Amino acid sequence: MSKLKKYSGDTIIIGGGLAGLTVALELLDHNQRIVMLDRDEHQNFGGLARESFGGILMVNTPVQKRMGIRDSISLAHKDWLSFAGFSSNDIWPKRWVERYLERSIPDIYEWLRQRHVNFFPVVHWVERGYHVPGNSVPRFHMVWGTGKGLIESLVQCLLNHPNRNQLTIYWQHRVTELDTQNGHVTGCSGQIETNGEPFVAQGDCVVIASGGINGSLDQVRKNWHPEWGAPPKTILNGSHKYAIGDLHKGAERIGGNVTHLNLMWNYAAGVSHPAPRMPFHGLSVVPPRSALWLNYQGERIGPPHLMAGFDTRYLIQQICRQPYQYSWQVMNYKIAVKELAISGSEHNKAIANKDLFGFLKDILLGNADLVDHLIEDCPDILVANSIDELVEKMNRLEKNHLVKADMVHKVITNYDKKIENKAFDSDDQLKRLQQLRKYRGDRARTCQFQPIMDKHAFPLIAMRYYVLSRKSLGGIQTDLHSRVLSTDGKPLSGLYAVGEASGFGGGGIHGKRALEGTFLGSCILTGLAASRSIVSNFF
Ligand SMILES: Cc1cc2nc3c(=O)[nH]c(=O)nc-3n(C[C@H](O)[C@H](O)[C@H](O)COP(=O)(O)OP(=O)(O)OC[C@H]3O[C@@H](n4cnc5c(N)ncnc54)[C@H](O)[C@@H]3O)c2cc1C
Repeated sequence: MSKLKKYSGDTIIIGGGLAGLTVALELLDHNQRIVMLDRDEHQNFGGLARESFGGILMVNTPVQKRMGIRDSISLAHKDWLSFAGFSSNDIWPKRWVERYLERSIPDIYEWLRQRHVNFFPVVHWVERGYHVPGNSVPRFHMVWGTGKGLIESLVQCLLNHPNRNQLTIYWQHRVTELDTQNGHVTGCSGQIETNGEPFVAQGDCVVIASGGINGSLDQVRKNWHPEWGAPPKTILNGSHKYAIGDLHKGAERIGGNVTHLNLMWNYAAGVSHPAPRMPFHGLSVVPPRSALWLNYQGERIGPPHLMAGFDTRYLIQQICRQPYQYSWQVMNYKIAVKELAISGSEHNKAIANKDLFGFLKDILLGNADLVDHLIEDCPDILVANSIDELVEKMNRLEKNHLVKADMVHKVITNYDKKIENKAFDSDDQLKRLQQLRKYRGDRARTCQFQPIMDKHAFPLIAMRYYVLSRKSLGGIQTDLHSRVLSTDGKPLSGLYAVGEASGFGGGGIHGKRALEGTFLGSCILTGLAASRSIVSNFF
């Protein structure tokens, strides 16, 4: 029988993503002995945040002020509540929203700046809302260096910390159980990935920082929201392969309250990852807004016509209502080069590598390298020199004859005619393009009324999109100290949950919809709340 490995520290942190990393940094400042356990390998330190775009929602920042954006906590609060659609029972989520907005400057902006994280000088305006009002002003602050730069800065701070020797990290350690004694959580246990050997870790308290559940497509399907009908046959995975809810179950087994698992932030425009690192690995395309969004047979979805940047949940809802629950976007090369992007650090090389010249070049001239790479390596992107050829390729890809060439001809001709006749007000997509181009952060990345059949902008491109699983909006319920609450609303002694594991605070800080950039921000906030509580012996 294999020997039981034993570790001990003042605090045990399960998970080395942004939330776990924040807790570790703060506890080292107080010279705590920390054991961090992570199922993943060392090179993936930082979890999903390392792969992320690095956009963070903050309110009233110097960056906003320099751009003349007038924001306020009360305006952001109104927007958040509108978008979230909370129920009257969502007491802890609503308290966390207030905490987020009141503390975004000292606890996110300044905390990161003190750790050598800088922000790009233009704030993005995402999730403006469509039927439900969203962000009234731009608030999405891009970290210079994307999520990769964010994590590299924080990991450097950790490795160079004067109390670094107080931290021991065990990689490839999967935690499955939380251990208790006399009603207090005393540690956790699990198995080492490489050899299956058991281990236990003991401490005064345990912090669950193990991410959400959206890395398990089974869990995603099981918890699929009834408003979206049945889950699609194909769902791509854009989450963490180990974000499968081990510790959600662990917390539940000892009485923790897990809430709102059917609230998720999935994306409508997923394509297959050209170099997959897990089954069904997908990328989230930032869908070009000058492209036409079509259903399985080539019919334009809407009105209102689908467009990114307004309400991601609405896009998911509409696509899931379509037969077959996947969709197409049709555009030309010029639109793709100017507007197409992929969310995350991996495919935004210039900004991820802090290459200012390359970044400005991408903004001014578009990102032809990205489009060419996708054309070459991603099976879901098709190129043709005529509509008939494109439709033939679309049907070949789907191995059926569902896309109707005459339908696609009609849709494109109608749209192009409206542009030719400057009948912008007759089409809600064109109206919204006008609106977008009024903001300078969007103008640079949006074509000026680009007809699809413009031969100078050829070839034509079609992209097939599947729903992509990304973030869990629900999770382990916590109070404002990030203490895990039991089903009867009392803190479970010695147990904390932070980041996506905690539904980013209170078991569901976002409600049904996220204003975006709130995920990274709330990993830091929940992490700080837990560490402050731990050092003040509040558990
Ligand atoms: C491509 C991409 C782009 C994104 N862009 C943005 C953005 O611009 N803005 C934004 O706000 N958010 C963004 N996000 C979301 C954001 O990155 C995540 O929600 C956030 O980083 C989650 O952090 P976390 O620490 O809670 O969890 P994770 O990063 O998931 O880390 C959890 C850690 O726990 C470990 N773990 C899991 N289970 C166990 C177990 N049983 N035992 C031991 N260890 C375990 C995992 O290995 C992992 O290291 C993006 C995400 C992706 C993938």
